[in-house]
Amino acid sequence: MIERRKTQKISVGNVIVGGDEAISIQSMLSAKITDFEANVKQAKKLKKAGCDILRVAISDLNSVKLIPILKEKVKIPIVADIHFNAKLAIESVYAGVDKIRINPGNINHEDIKNISKTCRSLNIPIRIGINSGSLEKKILEKFGSPTSNALFESALENINLLESFDFNNFIVSIKSSCIRTCVESYKMVASKCNYPLHIGITESGTFKTGVIKSAIGIGSLLLDGIGDTIRVSLSDDPKKEIETGISILKSLGLKYGISVISCPTCGRTTIDVMKIAKQLEKELENKYKNIIFKKNIKIAVMGCAVNGHGETRDADFAITGVGNILMIFKDGIMIKKVFQKEIFSELINEINKKINLSNDFVSN
Ligand code: SF4
Repeated sequence: MIERRKTQKISVGNVIVGGDEAISIQSMLSAKITDFEANVKQAKKLKKAGCDILRVAISDLNSVKLIPILKEKVKIPIVADIHFNAKLAIESVYAGVDKIRINPGNINHEDIKNISKTCRSLNIPIRIGINSGSLEKKILEKFGSPTSNALFESALENINLLESFDFNNFIVSIKSSCIRTCVESYKMVASKCNYPLHIGITESGTFKTGVIKSAIGIGSLLLDGIGDTIRVSLSDDPKKEIETGISILKSLGLKYGISVISCPTCGRTTIDVMKIAKQLEKELENKYKNIIFKKNIKIAVMGCAVNGHGETRDADFAITGVGNILMIFKDGIMIKKVFQKEIFSELINEINKKINLSNDFVSN
């Protein structure tokens, strides 16, 4: 069980970030900002995929108009991503946005003061989004490069700055594309304050590289109890960011649901583990995508008895067998022998019996 760092609770629309609340998953719209219809369509898709909070790039006054449209048509907390221009932040707050993300590397102190004043008047939180690619000039000059100490100093300065304006309704992120720098700076900031942390590895790359870097970076912070909301950054469809975020949380037991474990197969394998495990994941995802679980259900697909016995005992359900004949185990006991073509329907029947019998497993 991971012991999470105790942080202040911040409301982003109807999602609470921090405290003991579930770790929320974020992504960012990538449709052209001028195409409002495409943004609404993408936002709906991301919400359906499991996105809790959605960020949108607000680059001019026209793009501010997208905020009320998204709020009305998608009903998901919206964050306005602001660079350079305080007026855009202020207008976004008046347009009904749920959080403002500012980059202190490109907004001056007076502007941050004005933004915080408007945010306070409408109870809208801010994210201070420190980024290694756009650190304040004076910090870069002092440290020479965006090291973890440089990121830490920028974060502390900006935390102190907002506090000096009597503003405490904020979340902090300290992102770098270097996993080590990123993790070190988050740990330093976590040791100094109890503001919620939005964690992620920025510009982590294309799907394969980005998933690995994010899993290492976000995963190692979460294992240390650090992180209240996450964003996986991928040069790919944002839906994959959400799916990856869900997988990271589920792998660490920080998000409940059904997880499939399967053996890597070897010369002893007596069933088609790869095909069964892949298909099973798809079937379960389709079947249970709208169910909110309160506990985990673990299903093991094992190629033979070597580790099979141990894993079947440890899993809620397990599948093993020989050739076309598969056995379903429940809580370590073999309950059924079925043909391979029947395995998914039979297993889903058993899962349904288990979750219907106990509201420990699902929320009504
Ligand atoms: S469980 Fe059996 S088949 Fe699978 S990798 Fe281990 S020994 Fe091989």
